[in-house]
Amino acid sequence: MKKLLSLVLSLMLLCSASALSDALPEETLFTPGVYQAEEQGFGGTVSVTVTVDEDEILSVAIEGPNETPTLGGVAVETMGQEIVAARTPHVDIVTGATVTSNAIIAAVTAALEQAGADITQLDMNAGRVLFIPGTYEAEAQGFGGPIHVIVTVSEDEILAVVIEGASETPTLGGVAVDTMDDLIKEARTPNVDGVSGATVTSTAIVAAVTEALTAAGADLTLLDDLRLDKEEDITREEKTIDTEIVIVGAGGAGMAAAIMAKQAGKDFVILEKMPYVGGNTTKATGGMNAAETHYQKEQGIEDSVELFAADTMKGGHDINDPELVRTLAEKSAEAIDWLDSIGAELPKISFSGGASTNRIHAPADGSAVGNYLVDKFYAKLKELGVSVMLNTEATELIMKDGKIAGVKAESDDAIYTINAKAVILATGGFGANEDMYTQYRPDLKGTVTTNAPGATGDGIVMAQAVGAALVDIEQIQLHPTVEQTTSMLITESVRGDGAILVNQGGKRFTNELLTRDAVSAAELAQEGCYAYILFDQHLRDNLKAIEKYVTNGLTVQADTIEELAEKLSIDPATLAETLKNWNEIVKNQNDTEFGRTTGMNNDLSTPPYYAIKIAPGIHHTMGGVKINTAAEVIDVNGNPIPGLFAAGEVTGGVHGGNRLGGNAVADIVIFGRIAAESAVAYTK
Ligand code: ADP
Repeated sequence: MKKLLSLVLSLMLLCSASALSDALPEETLFTPGVYQAEEQGFGGTVSVTVTVDEDEILSVAIEGPNETPTLGGVAVETMGQEIVAARTPHVDIVTGATVTSNAIIAAVTAALEQAGADITQLDMNAGRVLFIPGTYEAEAQGFGGPIHVIVTVSEDEILAVVIEGASETPTLGGVAVDTMDDLIKEARTPNVDGVSGATVTSTAIVAAVTEALTAAGADLTLLDDLRLDKEEDITREEKTIDTEIVIVGAGGAGMAAAIMAKQAGKDFVILEKMPYVGGNTTKATGGMNAAETHYQKEQGIEDSVELFAADTMKGGHDINDPELVRTLAEKSAEAIDWLDSIGAELPKISFSGGASTNRIHAPADGSAVGNYLVDKFYAKLKELGVSVMLNTEATELIMKDGKIAGVKAESDDAIYTINAKAVILATGGFGANEDMYTQYRPDLKGTVTTNAPGATGDGIVMAQAVGAALVDIEQIQLHPTVEQTTSMLITESVRGDGAILVNQGGKRFTNELLTRDAVSAAELAQEGCYAYILFDQHLRDNLKAIEKYVTNGLTVQADTIEELAEKLSIDPATLAETLKNWNEIVKNQNDTEFGRTTGMNNDLSTPPYYAIKIAPGIHHTMGGVKINTAAEVIDVNGNPIPGLFAAGEVTGGVHGGNRLGGNAVADIVIFGRIAAESAVAYTK
């Protein structure tokens, strides 16, 4: 019996981290050793190897070979050192790489728990967790009688302070009783200034709250250091850089321009406000439109510059700037050649919505074009010895004598004046800035965005401040299939491969493959302004992108359509009827109800069935700074602003009222190159 008990106890010890940590000698944080753990990251498994001695995390090695190099890869590269320095797994996540960052934190937590660590204790030691959440009470002697306080705290906040001191003189101690609760809450420390003239009451309140917070595990010295209402005295170094060209933004357009500038032998700097490069370009999936390319010729595809231009004008509802469109089409084939020359070949050609022929050029293996180009561009920049100034945000354009003279920029530790003869704005659009898009489109208030966090329209605001004209600024493209809790875009290929959209009533309501604006409008007309995208196992098996949606928990799955309906609170009979009708439509290739003619090669009949709840999300801001065909920024009087150039989503005019798939990448490569050529010529 005794043996059994000790076996059970040792098993319990093995299973319970806190029991193990109880077994550690006092003041010892870890059982020395090497511990390993794994978690699911964004692209695959993230594994960590953590080495500890009794009271230090000595090293954290992280492996995540399948993470996107410029996003999750940054977390894989940097978070280990941060965890060692912070002495807790709970360090700041890398913005834009939430899934990878959280996987790393979870895996390191698991490894440290194997080492017997009490993670809350580590967090408290590191100042990450300030209090043990709960409500604590204490008393101290005031002027007229006892002062009683009730303090409620979360891990890092004082949520409420109640001070009871009915015996204090109302106009003196009573004022302290009435006011010090808010002061303490705001400052997150009891050591606030008391009420002058009510020293005894004030001191009693400070003492009682101190006692309550001490019971909550707080380190009072740390609270004073972290005092919230204290004026922060950050002194950032002032730095001056002299160069010829400043490129603002390291997305597709900025990096294309930087490669060109370097190849032209120019002295320049490239700034990026995020801790990683890529911007919205990283999110491009399809490819790059280009006409009369050598790839098209080799593959026997007939196309012309004229047709490309005409398709783009038509797609943009004919409000595009025809000259910019002409340039886009004319320069597209040579842009493909240039991409070849830097090892970023796009040989796989297919059809994309709004094109009269096969025109969209993608990587050979069919992978997403955005990541592919960002990786290639960044690698090329590194090879050329160009380093991007990350975490550095341009804040203002400097003008002297009516000409551009540089930019002001800021990082955490410096304020820069960068003197230059020319500036290229490649800051992208404003789809991640709700204030800005609702300023131009109040109807879009509350709409989620698929955009990268850096797409805040800074370039547009900076250019406007020096007199730039804007075009089509209210033209904003919605993408119809965006999962709303994660803002993850469900690629068009899901519908292209055969998925349908149903509303909460279980019925189809549109031709699912109309243009993005039309499908979005149809969804917004449904009850609740959302829909479900519905597909089957066969479709999942044939489309790699779906795995990401499943691993991120976006899909609802069921073995029968009725069961799926129940999970979605849809009437099962109606949804079953909708699916039966759809499969008939596919069989007969005739959608009498909504006239769909594409994406009808496979019916939806292989269980399990899947659904993702979706609604429109902000996808692309077509409008922006006005440029001419030389990528010179045009002012409100129609004249170029000397020394100011812009390319990519920061500009307006290329896409008009609607951007065709494949034209964003064409825009950034073609106009990124032109902007660099023009800036190089201007600074000669
Ligand atoms: P494009 O497709 O036009 O190249 P992207 O969105 O891909 O646009 O890239 C724009 C880049 O500019 C993003 O990486 C974004 O973080 C960066 N950016 C935006 N505003 C600033 C700024 N004020 N200073 C530096 N970088 C910026």
